[in-house]
Parts: sequence; structure tokens; C-alpha cells
Amino acid sequence: MAAKRPGTPALFARLGVRPVINACGIYTDLGGSRLSPGVWAAAAAMNGDFVRMTELLDKTGEHIAGLLGVPAARVTPGAAAAIMLGTAAAMAGIDGDKSQRLPDTTGMANEVLIQAGHRYKYDRQVSMTGARLLELGSENGTRPDQIEAAIGANAAMIIHPAHLDGKPGTVRLEEVVRIARKRGVPVLVDAAYMNYPAAIMADYVQRGADLVAISAKYFGGPNAGGFIMGRKDLVAAVSNVHFTRYESGQYLKYGRPLKMDRQMVVAVVVALEEWLAMDHDARFAGYRRQAEMLRAMLAGLKGLTLAPKCFTMDERFIEDPVNCLLVTFDKAACGLNAAEVAGRLEAETPSILAILEGNAIGFVMDVLEDREVGHIGERLRALLG
Ligand SMILES: *Cc1c(COP(=O)(O)O)cnc(C)c1O
Repeated sequence: MAAKRPGTPALFARLGVRPVINACGIYTDLGGSRLSPGVWAAAAAMNGDFVRMTELLDKTGEHIAGLLGVPAARVTPGAAAAIMLGTAAAMAGIDGDKSQRLPDTTGMANEVLIQAGHRYKYDRQVSMTGARLLELGSENGTRPDQIEAAIGANAAMIIHPAHLDGKPGTVRLEEVVRIARKRGVPVLVDAAYMNYPAAIMADYVQRGADLVAISAKYFGGPNAGGFIMGRKDLVAAVSNVHFTRYESGQYLKYGRPLKMDRQMVVAVVVALEEWLAMDHDARFAGYRRQAEMLRAMLAGLKGLTLAPKCFTMDERFIEDPVNCLLVTFDKAACGLNAAEVAGRLEAETPSILAILEGNAIGFVMDVLEDREVGHIGERLRALLG
């Protein structure tokens, strides 16, 4: 068995929770990322002192904006929260009474436009504010004139998921921005995982997005961390719908349940600093080395095909840059098929979770430590040897 950190086995036993070896990558349901020692230390330092949350959010926002070279930014409890707060801000502006009335949007422009081909899981966060999501065009496509025609007096915002930008049949961000600017309607881009190369985060602002939502879980920050950035007035409006000054201010502001710990606010900032300073070639070289380490451990086993691959953010296996080992199982030669192997690994303690795809399992290195890769190799050898 690989070495464990002191204290953790007792904690897991006391709570009746099974630890997981996460060979899936960064998933909210598995807890997001692993915080680096530097990020953890910053959170611990912040735990030792109190600050005014209003000041902390203002100053960390300015700091993030400075790091990325954008007009304004503000830490949020994740990208989904950033979409929700950005939408609420687009409707309420800096009007405290409107913030207090949401999700009742009476008297506010409340239509948020989305191209039909852009419908996706997180557009739910738009509707949760009380906004009406208006779907434009069809699955087959949306034309620029359909967007233009849909922008009426009640249009509050256009939402544009970055990972679907350029999808066949849809209108690209630059064209959407051109139409939206003409009508004075802001565009919010969900760029939750668009963080590598690091410069692409700010690129969405340069390309004309008025607000951009980024998730910290994808850059080594807290699972419940992220930020919104973009136009100064809109980021100021986000602070009008954010959680602070609910108890101490004049209005029962909309975003009170989306509160954050001061420790996690600084963890977002320090994780971002580390991400911007990181040698990403070395990061990828580390994944490749771990994939090769696992391959070497499995090399003697019959019936396995071992292929280093890249498991992408949109969950496809491609060639480069390598961050995983894809293992294909020939049951006639090794005794088990992929689903059976995955089931056995999952049933163990610690539970080993990886990506099952057809008759293969992808072991993704993104958040694995060497000791865990070694453990996976040992367990596979025990099951198949
Ligand atoms: C993970 C994700 C989100 C939500 O981000 P959180 O920080 O977990 O709230 C939003 N959009 C996309 C595309 C994501 O992958």
C-alpha cells in the first residue's frame, strides 16, 4: 500500500467515507482539484486573521484584473455562480432595490438570448435568476439576423459558451459582439475551462465579451471558486448582487446564498498566480512521465493494449498532449473486460475511479500523485497478473 498522510485514515473511518484515487481528472463531483501547498498555506494564513469581506473582494478583484490585464474582476464561488451573478447584474445593474427583488424581474429587461446550438447544462444558471432564456434559431443553426431581430427592449444579455464558439451553424463571438454592441446589450462568455495557454482567459475580453466566467477548479483553485471579469460597470453591478452587505446594508441582496470564505477567496487568487507563473511544459511532461510509469508497470501483463493519450476537457481521447494512459482489455487473454476491471477497482478501498470508455479505461493523471499511480499499477497487476 502506498503511504498515506498522517491522520487521514482515522478521519475517513470516523466519517464512514471511502477515499478515492481520482484517475478521472477534474470533476466537481470528485471535489475539483488538489490545492497546492502554496495555495493551502495562503488559505491557512487567511484563516489566522479577519478582514472585511467587502474590501477583500474589491482588492482581490483589482488584483486579478491587474494580473490578467482586464478592466475589472471579482471572485465568485465558481463559474456557475459567476454566470448567475453576471445575469443578475445585467438585469439589476447597481440598483439595490432590483437586486432585492430578484428573481422577480418585474420592471426589468429580463430576456437572455442564447443560440439554439449553444444550449448547455449551465444555461440553467441564467434561468435561476428569474431571467427568461430565449433560444434563437434551431439545432440546425442560428443566423446573425435572427440574433439582431431578437434584441428588443427586454433584452438583458446574450450568453455565449466559449467551448461551443465556432460550432457549425452558430454565429461566432466576434459577430455576436458586433450585433450586441450596436444594441447596447452585454455578452457574457462562459470560459470556465479556457485557461491554457493562460493568455486565452483575457483574450475573451479582448475579443469583446463584456463579462467572462472562469472556474478556479480547472486551475488548481478551490472547487467552489472562480471569478468573473470584464467591463468595470458590470463587475460593479456584480458586487450589487453579491453576498456582502446583506446583514449590514440597506438591501437584502440577491446573491446572499452564494457566499464565500475569506480563505477560499485568497485561494482563488494564489492559485491563479501560480497558474500564470507555472511552467506548463513541465506540467505536461509530468503527466507523460506518470503515464509512462503506469505503462511500465503494466507492460508484462497479457491482453492489454497500452496507449498514452490526451483526455480532453470535453471528454475525448486524442493524441496530444499526453495526460493519461488508455488501457484496452482483451478478455480472452486477460480474463476481464474493461467494465469488470473498472467495477473491481471502484469497489476497493481506496476506491479507484477512472474513465471507462467501451472496452478501455483511461487513467487520467491530471490530479494524481506518483504514489497513487503506483497504487493503481499494483492493483491492476494483482487483478490481472
Ligand atoms: C465546471 C464548468 C462550469 C461550472 O464551474 P464551477 O466553477 O464548477 O461552478 C461552467 N461551465 C463549464 C463549461 C464548466 O466546465
